[in-house]
Amino acid sequence: MTAQIIDGKAFAVTVREKVAGHVARLVEENGITPGLAVVLVGEDPASQVYVRNKGKQTKEVGMLSVEHRLADTTSEEDLLKLIDDLNKDPKIHGILVQLPLPDHLDSDLVINSIDPAKDVDGFHISNVGLLGTGQKSMVPCTPLGCLMMLREQHGSLSGLNAVVVGRSNIVGKPMAQLLLGDSCTVTIAHSRTKDLAEVCRGADILVAAVGRPQMIPGDWVKPGATVIDVGINRIPKEDGKTRLVGDVDFASAVEVAGAITPVPGGVGPMTIACLLANTVTACCRANGLPEPEGLTA
Ligand code: NDP
Repeated sequence: MTAQIIDGKAFAVTVREKVAGHVARLVEENGITPGLAVVLVGEDPASQVYVRNKGKQTKEVGMLSVEHRLADTTSEEDLLKLIDDLNKDPKIHGILVQLPLPDHLDSDLVINSIDPAKDVDGFHISNVGLLGTGQKSMVPCTPLGCLMMLREQHGSLSGLNAVVVGRSNIVGKPMAQLLLGDSCTVTIAHSRTKDLAEVCRGADILVAAVGRPQMIPGDWVKPGATVIDVGINRIPKEDGKTRLVGDVDFASAVEVAGAITPVPGGVGPMTIACLLANTVTACCRANGLPEPEGLTA
């Protein structure tokens, strides 16, 4: 059996088209342009690429894109002042502070200074609490993208056994909360889990968010399971260049799974698409308008 490949790149295009449709309606019918502000502190090359892509895609769907690029010597006081200004700015509906921040800045303090209603990354402690208690919240983009792909694949997820490998605050834990919200029976595995292989073999839905290249082989995958590979790992090739691989050994897993996301081209492209979706959702909520269907958890 060879698994169906879940094309995250194509799915992200449909999400962005939906977002663009909602943006066009908001502009035409309500005279409102959703606005996203991205704050980058320092010169981290990977972060610069992410921020550039976010800005480009924000404009492509018709939203206002504002970028604040600050020196890596920026004080916490100045950064908090900027966030306070953005919190008060009616043109801005979403605020994202690109992580990681330089060491002298307290990430938790900075993230928790964002207005939770504008926290489109869903990392503010209020949004974490709302998600954990099954209330309306801003949902972290990567797990939201995974959930959208799983719903598309399965329709209802109710009663399925889901195993999430990884318990980080940005992927593993919110992913588990979302799967629980969709009535899966959820197991969260991590570095101390005993017999991880056996735990994984029980999964109808296996989400890998570890950051270890190809650590999950095909014989850990239940035949017919849906595998969502969040991992993005760069490994050396024989020619001295590098390539991206996930946390799952794709070559062996694709022979066993029912459906699987590739790396690259799976979860990755969905993350920015969900950031745009969250910004439209935040804009609708801020203006008391109905939320866009199919773009929220
Ligand atoms: P973290 O490093 O924060 O968390 C990794 C998790 O994996 C931890 O909970 C850790 O367990 C667990 N883990 C580590 N080693 C093992 C092991 N041998 N067996 C079982 N569990 C293990 O990573 P993130 O959650 O931030 O990211 C995970 C991956 O997803 C990375 O490759 C990252 O690049 C990628 N990513 C991709 C995104 C996308 O857009 N596609 C977005 C965000 C992340 P413990 O807690 O016990 O240490």
